[in-house]
Amino acid sequence: MERNHSVTYVIAEPCVDLKDKACIEECPVDCIYEGNRSLYIHPDECVDCGACEPVCPVEAIFYEDDVPEEWKDYYKANVEFFDELGSPGGAGKLGLIERDHPLVAALPPRDHEE
Ligand code: SF4
Ligand code: SF4
Repeated sequence: MERNHSVTYVIAEPCVDLKDKACIEECPVDCIYEGNRSLYIHPDECVDCGACEPVCPVEAIFYEDDVPEEWKDYYKANVEFFDELGSPGGAGKLGLIERDHPLVAALPPRDHEE
C-alpha cells in the first residue's frame, strides 16, 4: 500500500512482552501506541526526533534505515498496525489497544527475566 510518510522510527522484536514504556515518556507527539504484546510507532505521526531511541532498555527502537536485517519486517508491522486506526493523533487517549500485528501475535511468549 502506498503511504505518505517519510522515514520513521520503528519498534522491533525486543519490545515484545516487555513493554516497559520508557519510550512513551520521551515522545513529544504521543505517537507510540500500546498493543497487547508490543508498542508501535505511528509512521505518519512520528516526527523523527529520535528522543525515544536511547531510552529503550532493550534497544528495540531503530531509525527505519537502521533496523537490523532479522527485524526488517517490523517496519511493516509498525505501519500496518495502524491500517484500521488511521491517524488518531495521540496514543494516550486510546490506551491499550487489544490486538497486535500478526507478526507479533505469532511469536512464542518471550521471557525477559535474566
Ligand atoms: S522503551 Fe523499548 S521496550 Fe520499553 S516500551 Fe518502548 S520500545 Fe518497548
Ligand atoms: S522519534 Fe520522536 S516522535 Fe518518533 S516515536 Fe520517537 S520520540 Fe516519538
